[in-house]
Order: sequence, then structure tokens, then C-alpha cells
Amino acid sequence: MEHYEQAARIVAFSKRMYEERLVSATSGNLSERIPGTDDVFAITPSSEDYLTMTPDRIVVMKTDGTLIYCPEGAKPSSEWRLHAAIYRDRKDVNAVVHTHSPYATAFATVGQSIPPALAEMLPWLGGGVPLAKYGPLGTWDLADNTSAAIGETGVSALMANHGAVAVAANMKTAYARAAYIEDAARVIVIAKGIGELVIPE
Ligand code: 13P
Ligand code: ZN
Repeated sequence: MEHYEQAARIVAFSKRMYEERLVSATSGNLSERIPGTDDVFAITPSSEDYLTMTPDRIVVMKTDGTLIYCPEGAKPSSEWRLHAAIYRDRKDVNAVVHTHSPYATAFATVGQSIPPALAEMLPWLGGGVPLAKYGPLGTWDLADNTSAAIGETGVSALMANHGAVAVAANMKTAYARAAYIEDAARVIVIAKGIGELVIPE
């Protein structure tokens, strides 16, 4: 199949995302821009089990919603608009990882961004993780609000009452950022239980 390399990588990182508990069941989604294109990307299918997913289940589509390759019985991720909006707005981004990782999502559920309290957040996330305005699941509102929160140079955002998203020039870095978001959120929640946060200068 065409774009096998991207599809195989998306599947490998999907399994890792599930095994490392950044999502439960079939939630979350991952995509990569097809190299050399402006508006074509490969994305996980909607509501399929990550443990049994194979590269031939990955959907290839355009940012306007046109399907280029869609295996039998598959639908593109219901959040394809989120991925499309980010590829539309950020030509330097080639990979998007959307998780429902629990500690990060807890911040998003009480209307808080993640403060830049850990030294590792600076090199990996460029600082704190901003909170995007709420948008219903799968909508252009959610997509546009989240892309706006990431901004022109950001690499992550929380999606209000929903989850988190990380972006990068490649999948390995986007995934690492998604993991760092959760790690930071978890440590900050623990830290707040024993004292007041100290934000490094
Ligand atoms: P999909 O299975 O359609 O990708 O949806 C998962 C999700 O995270 C919705 O926000
Ligand atoms: Zn989601």
C-alpha cells in the first residue's frame, strides 16, 4: 500500500499510546502529514482497537475531508478536523498526537492550563501547556479553538473538558511531547498535595 511507512509508524505509536495509558479503549487519535504535500495526511480510523490495528487500517485524506484511502468498514477519526486545522495553520508541523491522558485531562476539566513548574517542560514543551476554549467533539469549533491555543509557535494544548494535543515536525517528538504533558500534569498534582508550586524563574 502507498504511504506504508507513515501508516506503520502511526500504528506503532498508537499501540504505545494505549499501552502507556495516555488513552483508554479506543479514545485519542494520531496523524502524520504525507511528505511533500500541503493538505494530505494519514490518520487513525475512528473507534478501532489499537491492540489489533494494522497499517492497512490507516486512513489517508485531505484537510478538506476528501478521502483518498479508506479501508473497508473504516471511518477516519472523528477528530480529523482537529488534525486538518493544525496542518492548515502550521506548515512546520508533520505529526499530531491527541490523547485523553488522565492528569492532563483533569487540568482541562477544571478549566486550568498546566503551569510551567518543571524544568523539563521548557525544552520539551516550550513552557506551560495552554488551555483551548471548549468545543464539542469532532467539530470545527474544537479544531479551530485548539489550533488557536497552540498558536504560531506552540507545540501543545489542553482541550477543555476533553484531553490534550501535542504537535511536532515528526511523530517521535510529537509522541514524546504528549508523554511529557502527562508526566508534568501528574507531578504537579502530586506536588500541589504537599505544598505550594514554585515556578522556576
Ligand atoms: P476517534 O476514535 O473517532 O478517533 O475518537 C476518539 C477521540 O478522542 C474523540 O475525541
Ligand atoms: Zn478525544
